[in-house]
Amino acid sequence: MRIYLDHNATTPVRAEVADAMSAVLREEFGNPSSVYAEGAAARARVESARGQVAALLGAEPSELRFTGGATEANNTLLFGLLGPGDQVVTSAVEHPSISEPLSLLEGRGVRVSRVAPDADGCVHAAAIAEAITDKTKLVSIIWANNETGSIQPIEEIAHSCRARGVLFHSDATQAVGKTAIDLARVPADFLSSSAHKLGGPKGVGALIARDNAALPAFLHGGGQERGLRGGTENVAGIVGYGLACALAMAEQAEREEACGKLRDRLWAGIQASVTDVVWNGDRDRLLTNTLNVEFVGVAGEVLVQALDLEGVAVSAGAACHSGSIEPSKVLTAMGRTPEQARGSLRLSVGYGVDEAQIDRVVGLLAELVPRVRSVDAP
Ligand code: PMP
Repeated sequence: MRIYLDHNATTPVRAEVADAMSAVLREEFGNPSSVYAEGAAARARVESARGQVAALLGAEPSELRFTGGATEANNTLLFGLLGPGDQVVTSAVEHPSISEPLSLLEGRGVRVSRVAPDADGCVHAAAIAEAITDKTKLVSIIWANNETGSIQPIEEIAHSCRARGVLFHSDATQAVGKTAIDLARVPADFLSSSAHKLGGPKGVGALIARDNAALPAFLHGGGQERGLRGGTENVAGIVGYGLACALAMAEQAEREEACGKLRDRLWAGIQASVTDVVWNGDRDRLLTNTLNVEFVGVAGEVLVQALDLEGVAVSAGAACHSGSIEPSKVLTAMGRTPEQARGSLRLSVGYGVDEAQIDRVVGLLAELVPRVRSVDAP
């Protein structure tokens, strides 16, 4: 049995979700835009899921547009909103689906201010406020980082943007389902999320756009998703996403605590049995499921492969672009050297992980880290 400790890359689809999706695929093939009964049934499914996703976020269903994932949600927002002469304030620890579109837009005359995090990966609200100018159109800050799990002071940043009359977006892809999000309290204008990070399917996500903010169409065609995204809806995916959100809504607090216990057990075990380890992040400002740890002097990608051969999945740097051995931009932005970043592994727990698996991984690390270190030693 493999042990999967890379829940920040993606999560196993919950059995209930797979069953619900399968029922839609097999039995309910209608197009939500059709006016007859099959269409109406599909439309009802989509709208019910919209309610489930919106409820988890504390948003109104009318504020939520389904997308093909969080990358699409982020691109829809940035390319839709920003033009030459605009300034955008963001952090140096964003996911590539924010940072790369912003680099492209920079080449088209958008001014991009990237606020550095502290050594623990946290971005300070005061530093964001300082970067805002009268040209600032948007502030976009990741809610929780995919590599380190660091949670940003989103509520404070959102309030300060609202006070300055600047639009605020958060890429909450890693946070949704792992920590409480309540847009009734946080005055964010936009928020991105993705189903596959919380037990739902890949290829479906959402962009929240509050009523006070207008966005132009991203995909032109049939006018679906209130004109934002033309194209027949991914009904089965949307149904799966909705159910994953409903499950998260019922279980989130309990799961957050359970993940914290597993993560702390993992760290305690590593500390007790492996020398020279450093936790990249501040325990009190992290997603409870994430442990980013530097094994000093280790080539992270070699350790990932060694663990894989033993049946354990973890990631070095960001899984989305692992395969390359570029040092993590997030860790280098936090002041780590390329060597420190290269020696860092991300272990992220989630639904289905148990204590016995954690103990097995600790045992493997105790055995493998000295071996990888001795191979690497000059
Ligand atoms: N933002 C963050 C913070 C992420 O972790 C990811 C997934 N790696 C994405 C955006 C992209 O999500 P998707 O895979 O749905 O495009």
